[in-house]
Parts: sequence; C-alpha cells; structure tokens
Amino acid sequence: MSKIYNVGIIGGGISGIVTALQLEKNGVDSILFEQGPSVVNGPPFCHLHAGGNLYPDISDEQCRQLMKQSIEMARLFPLSIDKRPTFISIPKAENFQVRNLENRLEMLVNYYHKLIDEDSSNEILGSPKDYYKTYTIEDLRVLEKRPIVKHPKLSDEWMSNALKLIDYEKLKTPVFIVQEYGWNLFRVGAQGKLALTKAEHCNLKLNTKVTHIKDVRDEGLQYNWEINTHDSVYKVKYLVNSCGFRTGKIDESLHLNTQHMIEFKAAYVSKWHTISGLIPELIFHGERCTSHGMAQLTPYSGDYYQIHGMTKDITLFNNGLIESKSNEKETEFNESIMQKLNDNWSQDEIKTRTKKAIEFIAKFVPSFKSATVGGPPLYGAQQIPGVDPGLRVGEACFPSKFYARSEIVKASSALTVANQIICKMQKEENLPSFKISPKQNVLLESISKNDIDNMAAKLAVERGYPEAMSRLLIDRNK
Ligand SMILES: Cc1cc2nc3c(=O)[nH]c(=O)nc-3n(C[C@H](O)[C@H](O)[C@H](O)COP(=O)(O)OP(=O)(O)OC[C@H]3O[C@@H](n4cnc5c(N)ncnc54)[C@H](O)[C@@H]3O)c2cc1C
Repeated sequence: MSKIYNVGIIGGGISGIVTALQLEKNGVDSILFEQGPSVVNGPPFCHLHAGGNLYPDISDEQCRQLMKQSIEMARLFPLSIDKRPTFISIPKAENFQVRNLENRLEMLVNYYHKLIDEDSSNEILGSPKDYYKTYTIEDLRVLEKRPIVKHPKLSDEWMSNALKLIDYEKLKTPVFIVQEYGWNLFRVGAQGKLALTKAEHCNLKLNTKVTHIKDVRDEGLQYNWEINTHDSVYKVKYLVNSCGFRTGKIDESLHLNTQHMIEFKAAYVSKWHTISGLIPELIFHGERCTSHGMAQLTPYSGDYYQIHGMTKDITLFNNGLIESKSNEKETEFNESIMQKLNDNWSQDEIKTRTKKAIEFIAKFVPSFKSATVGGPPLYGAQQIPGVDPGLRVGEACFPSKFYARSEIVKASSALTVANQIICKMQKEENLPSFKISPKQNVLLESISKNDIDNMAAKLAVERGYPEAMSRLLIDRNK
C-alpha cells in the first residue's frame, strides 16, 4: 500500500513552508505540494509590519497582533531581516492626524515592553525606549545640517540622512523614525527551501500542481483525503490549504466556498544613485485608492529601491480587488490581470507604471526624479478573508473536519496560522500531544548564512531580479 501521510499541505508560499517546518520540528510527517519551481514565489513582501504603522486606519488590536507575529517571524528567519528603520510621515494635504499616530506608537511601546517581559528573546526591535523617536520641525532643521553618515545606527543618523532627500516642508510635523524593519523574500525562500530539502519528515514536491482532491472521509479508510496531481494520487489524513489567493479554488472543489476577497497589487523596482549613506524606508501616508494614496520607498542593496504607490495607476489596479460570496462560484480576475499573474507583463506597462511610481515618490523626494527602471515589478495576488479590505491580520480557519485553510493577509501571520492548525489537529486527535513553541526552529537554524546568500542570489536571478536584491542593506553575521 502506498504511504499515508499525516498531513498534506497544498501551496509552498510562506504559510505552507512554515506549517511544514513546524510539523517537521515536532516529528510529524507531511507532504508539501508547490506548483512552482521554488518555494515562496508568490506575492512579494518587503516590510516586517512590527506594529502596523503603515496602516493609520487599522485597530490598535491589529497593530499589537502584527507586532507580536512579526517578532515571532523575525526570530524564525533572522537572516532575512534588514534592520533598517522606517520614516513615517503624514503630508500636510492629508486628513490623518499626527496625534493619533503618536498615541498608537506609545501604546505599541507599552505592548513591546510586555512581550519582552514574557520572553526576553522577543527584544528584536532594539530597546523599547528606542522603538520610535519623534521629530519636531525644529529638530528637522537642526538634523538636516548634520553630515551624511555612511552606516547610520542611531535614529538621528537615519533621520539626518533622510532629510538630505525629503522635502519636509510638505509634511505635517512631528514625523517619526520607527523600528519597523525590511524583510527579504528571496532570503526567506532560500532558507525555507534549504531547510525543507534537509527535512526528514517532509516530502517537498516542487513543480507539482494539485489538480483536485477526493474526499474519502466517510469510506472507513485509514486516511481522509486523496490529493491528485496530473500523474499521481497521495493519501493524507489531514489537509491544509495554503494556496494564497487560490485557496478558494481548492474550497470550490470541496464545495466549501466562503465569502472572501482577492487583491492583485504590484510594487516597482528602480535604480537610483543617491547620497553615500543608507536611508530608512520612507512612508508618506495618503488615502488608499485615491490619487494621493500612500507612497512607500523601500531601499534594497546595490542602489535598488522598491516603490509602492497606493493609487490605481501604480500599485493598485482597476478591478484588482474582487469579492467571492459564500456558496457561489469563485470569482476570477479579468484577463489583463490574469496575464500579469502569468508573468506576461508588457514592457510598455512596466515602463509606464514604474515611471509613474518614480514621479509619485519625487513629489516628496525631489531628487528621486533621476531614478530609472531597475527590474521587473514585484507583484502578485493575496487573499483577504471576509468582507473588510482593511483587514491585515490573518488566521487559520477550519471549515470542515480534518481540513484547515490558511487565511493570511500579511506574511507575518504565517507562524500563528501554522500553530493554530497544529493545535486543532491535536484537539482532533490527529497528532500526538506536544507543546507548540514559537521559538526558533533547529532545522532552520542549521542553514548557514553562506548557503542562504548563495541560494537567495540564485532565486533572485532565476526570477529575473537583480542579484543585489537578495542581499541585506545591513549585512548580518548571525
Ligand atoms: C505587492 C504586494 C506587497 C506585499 N508586501 C508585503 C509586505 O511588505 N509584508 C508582508 O508581510 N506581506 C506583504 N504582502 C502580502 C504577502 O505577500 C502575502 O500575505 C503572503 O505572501 C501570502 O502567503 P501565502 O503562503 O498565504 O500565499 P502564497 O505566497 O500565494 O503561496 C501560495 C502558494 O500556493 C501555490 N499553489 C496554489 N495553487 C496550487 C495548486 N493547485 N497546487 C500546488 N501549488 C499551488 C502557489 O504557487 C503559491 O506558491 C504583499 C503582497 C503584495 C501583493
């Protein structure tokens, strides 16, 4: 008889790989199916949302969850975290109130203290007293005159470098430097792939698309599901759907359709020769989906800069956010978006949208006008469970016995979701009892920095991006 796996995971994005790695850590066997040639090759991520400060309109509770989950993920993948801070500002023309940002930052400092009291290893964002720093207009005028610092360490040094470039007269004050870091997806993919290849209990099937699933729960067998690929059938006791924006497709085949949204977005890669010192990520808040949505400039190694502009002609797209209702057929993106999802961007559109993105940032960073197209966009689609497009924290959901669906919206929720799934499996007595610990994973830790560097560079190049984008701005030895 062919092998029966305890767990079958469909989808090798961050959610699927973290679930497989958590199972591996606890000695539970699994099989992981990924239709692409490598793992973590879906929608991009660049920002560790350790506090949710990119979202002025989400609840304090979502901010706390994002901080907690981000810290857990940073402890799992430390060599993919770029420890450069984020500059946060509100343009004078926007309605958002600086006071609200400040109150929330204070709340986050208290919460960060609490997380450190619970476990001192949670102190990965530096000392709580340095989590954020506030700068008045007078402070900015003084710092602007300071010399450039090539490798800034203190918030003031990051701020004074940024001020060489930003037209701060357009911004409300105070502005902030916050310890929200960068997160390199090529490095997460590299570490995940290398770890899973070494795993004793996980069978990683790359280039393997799941075509359909047969529900055999009522047939009195030793397993509950048959996972079908184009040439084989795999037997599993527990099924985990980690298909990202395609989770609805698997649900549909199981007649378990739910209310959810899917959203297609893109960020643009530019090349820019600027001051000799490093700069923080730059955020200029704005009302999403209007012509003055948030502008985000994310520095990468090698003079590459990634741009998000939350308007319909930059990061967002007409009909880019669509809804599927429960018990109805899964909604599909239109043809133009499907073409892009299938790697079929026209060169013209890459150029036009990247140029618009450059102009958008140049409103606040005038010298950014000289930036050029630096590579293909980083793009993809993500799911948003339910009906609130502002939801940022995802969870696991259990629509049926022996079946879990991962519903992450931000990559930072992956470990929380994996642990929720494992807890549920234990409750249903599918797994022996063991204590789930959010601490680092020995298998992940066994992957050397050198191996991550090499594999991340290979993945970046294979996917058509500059190799430099696989490196951190601030190199880390451990
Ligand atoms: C432009 C953009 C910027 C973003 N920036 C950030 C950020 O800065 N920080 C952050 O935390 N999050 C960010 N996100 C969100 C983040 O990318 C997603 O939340 C996260 O990647 C989703 O991970 P996932 O594992 O759930 O899904 P995915 O990464 O989509 O993984 C699903 C996998 O399942 C595979 N699959 C699907 N169907 C099948 C099948 N039938 N058989 C086999 N394999 C299948 C797919 O190939 C895919 O690899 C961003 C998203 C976008 C679009």
